Amino acid sequence: MINFEQKGHYQGLINRYKEYLPVTDTTPIVTLNEGNTPLIKADNLAKKIGLDEMNCEIYLKFEGANPTGSFKDRGMTMAVTKAKEAGAKAVICASTGNTSAAAAAYAAKAGMKAYVLIPDGYIALGKLSQAMMYGAEIIAIKGNFDEALERVIEISEKYPITLVNSVNPYRIEGQKTGAFEICEALGDAPDYHFIPVGNAGNITAYFKGYEEFLALGKTSHLPKMMGFEAEVAAAIVKGERIMKPETIATAIRIGNPASWKQAENARDKSGGIINYVTDEEIVEAYKLIAANEGILCEPASAASVAGVIKAKKLGLIEENKNMVCILTGNGLKDPDSAIKYSGCEVKKTSAELNDILKVMDL
Ligand SMILES: *Cc1c(COP(=O)(O)O)cnc(C)c1O
Repeated sequence: MINFEQKGHYQGLINRYKEYLPVTDTTPIVTLNEGNTPLIKADNLAKKIGLDEMNCEIYLKFEGANPTGSFKDRGMTMAVTKAKEAGAKAVICASTGNTSAAAAAYAAKAGMKAYVLIPDGYIALGKLSQAMMYGAEIIAIKGNFDEALERVIEISEKYPITLVNSVNPYRIEGQKTGAFEICEALGDAPDYHFIPVGNAGNITAYFKGYEEFLALGKTSHLPKMMGFEAEVAAAIVKGERIMKPETIATAIRIGNPASWKQAENARDKSGGIINYVTDEEIVEAYKLIAANEGILCEPASAASVAGVIKAKKLGLIEENKNMVCILTGNGLKDPDSAIKYSGCEVKKTSAELNDILKVMDL
């Protein structure tokens, strides 16, 4: 029999980046071969936005290509691996959808039980369907993400159930590998790193990854960390907790980011910004990415590209630079939004050739 490992087949980010992660040779790795996602040069988008005239390059890191369709898999392979190593039998999380999908999938792979608390009515259907199929115990609360997170923290403190939200430090460890992949693909850190900000775990993780590669001499600089919240959930920008966050980008519908201070630290140490984009700007970017680059991401993911457009308008982007936008999740998780905002009308006709040609204007 040919050994899977010996053939050099990619086996997930813990195997790939072992030396930079808190694992040992005896750690029982729980993986779905996550990570190693495409970094796509987006020349059409650069033209549309006018970045080509500034001699700037834009790259899209498509995290929707992860096994459960979002970057949450990077953190979850680490968090569930460490939970298994510690002998845990169950995990719990609060979720706007993707964390629950990832927690449920990795728990299934590890033979553990997963409990997920979600805000009732604010989860994209694709994400909910994933958690259901992976076999999670799903509890929908009449409250928002921030309240769900408070509850699961309380529960994990009282019962032997491991919390796998991004306040779990192993989540950040796994997610920092996205920065490693970008640096390896580009040969150095990018000049700017654009990223949606919800609970702010991901901006924290990427910054940690960039800092570690810089300290190891693998890169020459830190990218400016450019984080974007949704306008009516922009707690960090406004400097206060938002009690009723609202946005069509449900994955970043968070009013009290758990990694608030860490996100500010990433911003300040890198010379970046944390700003916000409106739902209209998010929808515009969501459509631009799909129609010009052939990539369907989630509305929340498009906040990164909407951020580039806004930063350019504000004069925050210098000439001759490159930038990476993290497309955090797969648009297939939220077909309702895609159908609603595409503006596309499906033309109906008979099965007769002449009728079809007429509809095609031929
Ligand atoms: C979780 C998530 C975010 C927000 O990431 P944080 O680490 O909470 O800031 C953005 N987009 C998608 C698709 C997500 O699932």
